Amino acid sequence: MRIIVLGGGVVGVTTAYQLQKDGHEVVLLEKNAEVADEASWGNAGMIAPGHSFVWSSPKAPMTLLKSLFLKDQALRFRLSADPRLYSWSWQFLMECTAGKARRNTLLKHRLAAYSQAVLQEVIGSEPIAYDRNDRGVLYFHRSQQALDVGIAHMRLLESDGQLITVLDRDGVVALEPALAHAREQIAGAIWCPTDETGDPAKFTRALAALVAARGGEVRTRTAVTGLEVSGGRVSGVRTPAGPVTGDAYVLAMGAGSAALARQIGIDLPIYPIKGYSLTIPVGNQPAPPSLGSVDEHNLVAISRFGDRLRVTATAEFAGYDKSHKPADFAFMKKVTQELYPEGADYERAQMWAGLRPMTPTNLPFFGRRHLANLYLNTGHGHIGWTMSHGSARITADLIAGRTPAIPMEGLAA
Ligand SMILES: Cc1cc2nc3c(=O)[nH]c(=O)nc-3n(C[C@H](O)[C@H](O)[C@H](O)COP(=O)(O)OP(=O)(O)OC[C@H]3O[C@@H](n4cnc5c(N)ncnc54)[C@H](O)[C@@H]3O)c2cc1C
Repeated sequence: MRIIVLGGGVVGVTTAYQLQKDGHEVVLLEKNAEVADEASWGNAGMIAPGHSFVWSSPKAPMTLLKSLFLKDQALRFRLSADPRLYSWSWQFLMECTAGKARRNTLLKHRLAAYSQAVLQEVIGSEPIAYDRNDRGVLYFHRSQQALDVGIAHMRLLESDGQLITVLDRDGVVALEPALAHAREQIAGAIWCPTDETGDPAKFTRALAALVAARGGEVRTRTAVTGLEVSGGRVSGVRTPAGPVTGDAYVLAMGAGSAALARQIGIDLPIYPIKGYSLTIPVGNQPAPPSLGSVDEHNLVAISRFGDRLRVTATAEFAGYDKSHKPADFAFMKKVTQELYPEGADYERAQMWAGLRPMTPTNLPFFGRRHLANLYLNTGHGHIGWTMSHGSARITADLIAGRTPAIPMEGLAA
């Protein structure tokens, strides 16, 4: 078939790759000048099944409420005139029961773990350099009480096959000597040795180049402005350069998916949740981190991409606004600098903000709605780099009429 993939983030590009592997002719449409220039550019780069916990948990309603009154929270809920914020928030709150949080977390973990296996297959056969680090990820806590809660929490993922190792303060520093300066601030950590990190944009751009080299079309600077529908099918995509037609279409436009879907009567509750990141050259600093870490108290994630650090933080409801100012980064920079004082050349940090395409369940949408040849692969939220590879394979399977390798109950559209 000739398949048109809408959106060139990591989800769209991995989908194009898997479809091409199945023998399809693929055309990928991306509005920006390069693929992976939105959420897939500046994220923390963690391939982290160990981070599969949903945000829609029993604790979330109070956290959201508090954020209305307190400044400098990692989560910043802001009132706005956008009615979609409220319908999305209502659906999100409905997912916050203990039972649903557990169910959604396990579904997410299943997809994330499968996705990591697909990634490993891909890099086993394709020469892609993306500053991969496979030493695991350290989820560390600053008090014994928080560590104990974290361990109890992590047992859920462990019951689903996640490998975890609990480390005390000395164990943390033994594994990550770069944290020696911060030894007294850390009570201990949960180390997920099979989690990994890598630069998502480098990966996505290299994969897109492979797709193009094998005859796929990667059309950048091509905005999708609408879909033509007739006879219960999509008959074409409208772009400023003219229509693009195919036999099937995959919607993978991240935070941009909901607006396009709405035009054709599909309601996708995907709301943008803004996050911030710093990319910092290591320079000639002597003690950069040697593996990924998450400061669970401050909700700051830190990854090492070769000669750079990537630091991310914050979940903010700011609509589709991606603007940022130096003050937005002050806290995350301070936390990282205190943890790794000799870890990077902090004065040369590059600032970025982007939008996580969040769904109320924190699970992406797959499969078809009422149009026979339009497939969804969108809404990957806060761990979309992790879930992209498996989601792409699942989408290729669904298009081919094959049964995906993991049970889809609870995951289909
Ligand atoms: C601060 C931060 C930290 C994160 N950390 C991690 C992490 O450590 N691990 C992890 O797994 N995930 C992480 N994520 C989440 C991850 O970045 C996203 O889930 C993932 O990138 C989503 O990929 P996507 O392809 O769906 O969306 P995007 O990367 O946003 O791609 C969508 C693409 O569609 C294009 N598009 C949109 N509208 C149109 C249109 N009309 N026409 C043509 N093209 C269009 C966009 O230009 C864009 O390129 C993080 C996110 C943030 C913001």
